[in-house]
Order: sequence, then structure tokens, then C-alpha cells
Amino acid sequence: MISIDLSDKTALVMGVANARSLGWAIAEKLLEAGCRVGFSYQGERLKPELDKLLTDKVGTWTLQADATSEDDLTALFAKVREEFGTLDYLVHSIGFAPREAMEGRFIDTTPADWNTAMSVSAYTLVSIARHAEPLLRDGSSIVSLTYHASQQVVPKYNVMGVAKAALEAATRYLASEMGAAGVRVNSISAGPMRTIAARSIPGFGGMYDKAAKAAPLGRNATPEEVGKLALFLLSDLGSGVTGEVVYVDAGAHIMTMKLD
Ligand code: NAP
Repeated sequence: MISIDLSDKTALVMGVANARSLGWAIAEKLLEAGCRVGFSYQGERLKPELDKLLTDKVGTWTLQADATSEDDLTALFAKVREEFGTLDYLVHSIGFAPREAMEGRFIDTTPADWNTAMSVSAYTLVSIARHAEPLLRDGSSIVSLTYHASQQVVPKYNVMGVAKAALEAATRYLASEMGAAGVRVNSISAGPMRTIAARSIPGFGGMYDKAAKAAPLGRNATPEEVGKLALFLLSDLGSGVTGEVVYVDAGAHIMTMKLD
């Protein structure tokens, strides 16, 4: 029997808004395995929800940090150093594009909306990895969350699809540079899941149902399955895997169409 004991490991999870967040599904698996976990959240409005989730989770801590703010990241990683000394696992579960950019035509994307989507959803992986680097050690691992609209056109995903393509490319460049220190960097491509971020995608409900029908497994993957894949990629179980985009979507992305 293989059991995972992460009681001598530390993790930072960035991007838990509530119990439905994919970041929370990942954190739950890390906590179940005994890992010590710190959390960052974007705005004070999210703190009560996070505090509620963490009431019975021993040894956890939280700090506000807007991932696009260099000052916030400096303070966050100073806190990680103070709490943990070193960092084994880093979870980037952050994404945002203005709703207007997803309602209209892709061709009409404004420079401001392009920059916002790219900066929040892709560049933050790079800046967070840079801030974390001094605390990472041989065997440390970074995981982010992406979506298949980076590879194929998904209606209304628009600039977010481009931002996810940038995130996946950044994953490979970071993996190539950080590998020499024994640090792995991967991205999980999750199928559609009902979260707050998903609600900002016009027509998400219809897409959710279609993806389930198209998938070989005849259903959508679950947040818990994202958590299990993250546990594999972050921990020593995934020790030979880096620079990859690994899908957890019940197989939906392999299909072009399905006959009834
Ligand atoms: P979620 O619960 O809304 O999580 C997204 C998180 O990103 C929120 O906590 C949000 O905080 C945070 N965030 C946004 N801008 C930020 C910033 N500047 N600094 C720090 N945090 C910021 O939704 P989710 O679906 O779990 O999203 C997590 C990741 O999974 C995203 O990268 C998303 O694209 C990806 N993903 C989701 C799906 C899906 O169907 N749900 C599928 C594939 C990939 P606020 O609430 O304050 O904005």
C-alpha cells in the first residue's frame, strides 16, 4: 500500500475564494496528507470565508496578497520564510479576465483587458516563482491551473484562452530554468468546474453540460480529482514529471465529436 505522509512538508496555496475553489480542493488533499499549509487571498473581503474553512485546520495561516503587487509578494514570501523557513509546494490557483472581454468578439479585445488577463492569469506565475525561488529546495514543486481553451477555441473564453496559452508556455520556461535546482513546475488542465471564476464565463452552464456529454467517462471531472492530481504532481509521486500540462477532464479534450 502506498500512503503519502507530508507531515515534514510545507505548502503555500494562492487563490482560495471559497469551498468550491480548485485551490481549496488541492489544499484539502495536502492537509489530509499532513502538510503544513499557508494561504494567501487577494482582498480582505475573502478573509472571513477562508477563516471559516480553516477553523479546524491546525497549523494553517493566512495573509492578504494581490498577486500582481510586488510589495504584497515580498511581504508574503517574508511570511513564508518566517513561518516555514523553506517551501516545498507552491500552488498558483489564480485567474481573472474582465467579463466584457469574454462577452464580445475576441477581435475587439482592448489593450487594457488584454493586459489585465495576461498580467493576473499568466505573469503572476513568473513573479511568484521568482519570489519563491530562494525558499525552494531540491524536490520542491510548483503547480498552476490551466484550461484547454489555450489549445483549441472555446467560445467566449477569448483573451483568457490566450492567457492560459501564455501560462502553459511559462510553465515550460520555468521548468527548464528551475530544474537544475531540483524544482519541478507543472500545470493542471482542469475540465469545467462550478466555481466563482467559472461563473464569469458567459454560457458556462451549457458548456459544462456539453463537456460532460463529450467526455469518454460521460461526466465532468470533479474538484476532488483535481486535488488528487495536484497531490501526485506536487509530491514525490510525480518526481520525474516537469514542464507538463496534465489534463483532468474525464478525457473530454481528446474528443472532436461523439456520436449519440
Ligand atoms: P475561484 O474559486 O474564483 O479562484 C480564483 C482565485 O483567483 C480567487 O480566489 C481570486 O480572488 C483569485 N485572484 C484573482 N485575481 C487575483 C490577484 N490579482 N491576486 C490574487 N488572487 C487573485 O475559481 P477557480 O475556478 O477555482 O479558479 C482557480 C484556477 O483554476 C484559475 O486559474 C482558473 O482559470 C483555473 N481553472 C478553472 C476551471 C473551472 O472550470 N473552474 C477550469 C480550468 C482551470 P478573488 O475572488 O478576490 O477575485
